[in-house]
Amino acid sequence: MGQAISRRAFLKGGIAASATIAAAMSTGAGAVAGPEPSQYLATLIDIRKCIGCEACVEACRETNAQKYPEPKKPFPKMVPSRVKVSDWSDKRDVKDRLTPYNWLTIQHASVKVNGAKTELTIPRRCMHCVNPPCVKLCPWGSAKQLENGISRIDPDICLGGSKCKDVCPWDIPQRQTGVGLYLDLMPSLAGNGVMFKCDRCYDRIDGGELPACIAACPEGVQTIGPRDEIIAQARAIARQINGAIYGATENGGTNTIYVSPVPFEELNEAVHKGDGRPHFQPVDDSMAEANNLAAAMIIAPIAGIAAAVGRFIKHAKKNGQAEGHS
Ligand code: SF4
Ligand code: SF4
Ligand code: SF4
Repeated sequence: MGQAISRRAFLKGGIAASATIAAAMSTGAGAVAGPEPSQYLATLIDIRKCIGCEACVEACRETNAQKYPEPKKPFPKMVPSRVKVSDWSDKRDVKDRLTPYNWLTIQHASVKVNGAKTELTIPRRCMHCVNPPCVKLCPWGSAKQLENGISRIDPDICLGGSKCKDVCPWDIPQRQTGVGLYLDLMPSLAGNGVMFKCDRCYDRIDGGELPACIAACPEGVQTIGPRDEIIAQARAIARQINGAIYGATENGGTNTIYVSPVPFEELNEAVHKGDGRPHFQPVDDSMAEANNLAAAMIIAPIAGIAAAVGRFIKHAKKNGQAEGHS
């Protein structure tokens, strides 16, 4: 029943959101006025249902392959020189962690459920925070939050400085060197590259489709719908199974809500953690700190300028290509 309600709500929300998303994209706005966070598009991930088949991972890779970076090699000199090359282009097959070429990974946890040893598998990707620090603190306005709550990084504007990763409580965004705006501005210098992460298949949603990972899952692990409904469903399941939820309050609340048959402290202990392998720790609201809010306000004008420069270069490149073909 939840799936049916969620799908209807998703399609309704998706259609309603499409026009505003398109407007946001065309204006390049970092954030637009829109629905209340309770109506943001959220997903419920029911960990009990996942069988670890990785159909979702394959679907994500296939669907988003055209968005993956194609770096120019050899890399020019790195600027600033302290920045290390981050090159995943020869390791595109890696699936056991997040990379610029793998935006969804499956974690494994060996735990006891009601006294019985159980192997759980858990899909991990961007949490799509309600108030995302990666968006609010990006110095260049490259990370954006769409009206329906999705956060995405615009590869045409991103300079790969990793601020989004530094401020993300789960270190989600992943950097690829040798691509991006920097090479257009100063072709002899590599710069940092571009940051990549799950964009919630915003373009599929814009067209009224489900995100690829949800559509491909044979077990119906993920349910998508308005955040308040998703949280209500998660709480109802947690009550029923005496389980736990994660994402309702973490980092001030996210648009990804996990429900688990065991406490998240146990899952956090059991999963393989590290770069590209997110934790399940408690997370305070990082944007509640006054200094972060002040920083967000200070960078706003810079972000606007950077966005305008990015759009100008993209436009010029398109015109250049068109002239080249004529
Ligand atoms: S999980 Fe990290 S990358 Fe994703 S929206 Fe939150 S801060 Fe941004
Ligand atoms: S929502 Fe789209 S981009 Fe994000 S993990 Fe799923 S398939 Fe990949
Ligand atoms: S496709 Fe579904 S069942 Fe398979 S790994 Fe992904 S979430 Fe789990």
